[in-house]
Amino acid sequence: MPDIWIMRIGHRPQRDKRVTTHVALSSRALGAKGIYVDTFDDVLEENIASVVDRFGGDYTIKTGVTWKEAMRDFNGKVVHLTMYGQTVDEAIPKIPKDEDIMIIVGAEKVPAEVYQRADFNVSVGNQPHSEIAALAIFLDRFTEGKALYADRDGKITVVPNERGKTVVENPQ
Ligand code: SAM
Repeated sequence: MPDIWIMRIGHRPQRDKRVTTHVALSSRALGAKGIYVDTFDDVLEENIASVVDRFGGDYTIKTGVTWKEAMRDFNGKVVHLTMYGQTVDEAIPKIPKDEDIMIIVGAEKVPAEVYQRADFNVSVGNQPHSEIAALAIFLDRFTEGKALYADRDGKITVVPNERGKTVVENPQ
């Protein structure tokens, strides 16, 4: 599986605090390597780093990243999630599995240049909904569901359980 990176555009620290946190957490849980966020936000960085510290994996977050430069310098294919794009079913077989991908999600209106520069403009349904939902569905399909229960070797591991909560503390 290639490395998957997220680029979050239009993040407003006060207004989008919760949504961008969930974009990061969902993408981590669904197999991404890390997230770039356009606006500097140290609180967001600390929150995500704290989850990674406890639950493991090598997910990284960097805020204050210019999307134009990130897109230009990225060595791989750029996938922009937008309700105007080609269908996810059409797109996924065309996206190479031997190159890393950068997935762009917006907060508000995304600049036209993103549509032009992306290698793939991909829709997850043709209705407006949420970057969290779009990203989750895209990632689950792209990774064929393999990331959901992957071992992340964290300080704690949640063990799936039919009833009750099973949390194991791992020796470090
Ligand atoms: N009003 C904004 C616009 O016109 O671009 C859309 C804002 S939407 C809440 C935020 C992000 O969610 C979008 O930038 C896109 O990445 C994602 N998104 C929303 N609906 C989508 C869909 N049907 N397919 C793919 N991505 C979607």
